[in-house]
Amino acid sequence: MTDSAAIPAPSALPEEEVRRLLAFDRAHVWHPYSSALRPSVMQFAESASGVRIRLRPADDPGRTVEAIDAMASWWCAIHGYGVPELDAAARQQLDAMGHVMFGGLTHAPAISLAEKLIALAPGANGTIGGTGAAGDPGAHDVGDDETLQHVFLADSGSVSVEVALKAAWQYHALTGRPRRRMFTIRGGYHGDTFGAMSVCDPVGGMHSLFTGVLPEQLFAPRPPAGVDRAPDDPEIVAWETETRALFAAHADDIAGVICEPVLQGAGGMHAYSPHCVRVLAELARANDSVLIFDEIATGFGRTGTFWAADRVGVVPDILCVGKALTGGYATMAAMLCAPRIARGVSAEPAGALMHGPTFMGNPLVAAIAGASLDLLRRDDPLPRVARVEGGLRESLAPAAGFASVADVRTLGAVGVIQLREPVRAAEVAALALDHGVWVRPFRDCVYTMPPFVAEPDDVAAIGAALVTAVGEVHGR
Ligand SMILES: *Cc1c(COP(=O)(O)O)cnc(C)c1O
Repeated sequence: MTDSAAIPAPSALPEEEVRRLLAFDRAHVWHPYSSALRPSVMQFAESASGVRIRLRPADDPGRTVEAIDAMASWWCAIHGYGVPELDAAARQQLDAMGHVMFGGLTHAPAISLAEKLIALAPGANGTIGGTGAAGDPGAHDVGDDETLQHVFLADSGSVSVEVALKAAWQYHALTGRPRRRMFTIRGGYHGDTFGAMSVCDPVGGMHSLFTGVLPEQLFAPRPPAGVDRAPDDPEIVAWETETRALFAAHADDIAGVICEPVLQGAGGMHAYSPHCVRVLAELARANDSVLIFDEIATGFGRTGTFWAADRVGVVPDILCVGKALTGGYATMAAMLCAPRIARGVSAEPAGALMHGPTFMGNPLVAAIAGASLDLLRRDDPLPRVARVEGGLRESLAPAAGFASVADVRTLGAVGVIQLREPVRAAEVAALALDHGVWVRPFRDCVYTMPPFVAEPDDVAAIGAALVTAVGEVHGR
């Protein structure tokens, strides 16, 4: 852990005040997936700059330490912290207006964000074949309906998934016979609201807690691990057979197919073959089920292509984006859909997509998100991501030899050490922090998704800290 004065400290709080705030936090404030009775230890974050967070450690809040953020604040802060362009966009927008309602009013930040999203979306510039028929890009005409042209700005990733599911249900309810169910693969994560939860992995998402409350969806097996598996790999063939059979048995009732293409994030950092995504796409297309790609985690370059869909070669009917959309500054997500879906959803009698959050299209956040997309258009993130990937591959490699480690893998700016047992998360995180790295392991994974702007030294430090922490806590 490096004591350092590199980050300007706008308000270094007195130690007693930090202690008081931490005590109140323990007693009164929910954190993600937390227990009110057994709250876990919280580090006190004071400020952040570049790829570092300035912390007051819980066990010694008199000290100030800087830690490299190996999580990019849950995969969002792709440009790092204190980004001049994003700061400027926020300040400038504040001078105009922080918020106005989106019902009956519109404004430049939201319109311009939608314009940029449509221009960057999968298929927008003809780079994707836009056909569900894998390996046959000429199978049908690329027309209007092969691009994503309609944008719904949502307040969070989960809400964008709710809107996508609602659109799929409405599409069928209004254009043909109602269909009730969503088809997905096990191991997914799509958010914490009820619709989104219903398509999360039934075990990982603890569906048993919510029996009778959650809609019951259809779950194909989790595709076998490995991006490079060939379509004729026996495990892939077995997966495909089972998946096709399940789909066929319920086809009439399947309103939509949803997945995180190529990389399942919160469900265990599970990378799988684009071929499996093509199979899902083909099943959806042949059955007029709405194809939804949840790229909330994978979008904007994270997995080494701008969209995970680029690896698949399929333009979905609906795309959900979030997380890195705002460069990690504030919460906003979006649902983009093809004209065909927009027309279906808007059919009578409803005549409208029935969703409209209070803070929809918030101008302040939209301005920041627009500035983040400008940065991505100005500086292609893919070479940076490739550089991070190279650094992670090298620095995580030593863990592959540990007896405690089942697998070490990288995909774009994602590095994973998968253990043979559930990770002792608090111990691993504490040790990594001692080595100057902020990490938050989960399940059986110690993983990193650093900001794309992480320098080779930062990436090497992350890798070294993770390898050391895993080795010391779980054994070499
Ligand atoms: C994080 C995430 C969500 C939920 O987004 P929130 O902003 O946390 O609601 C949905 N889908 C995927 C793939 C995610 O990674």
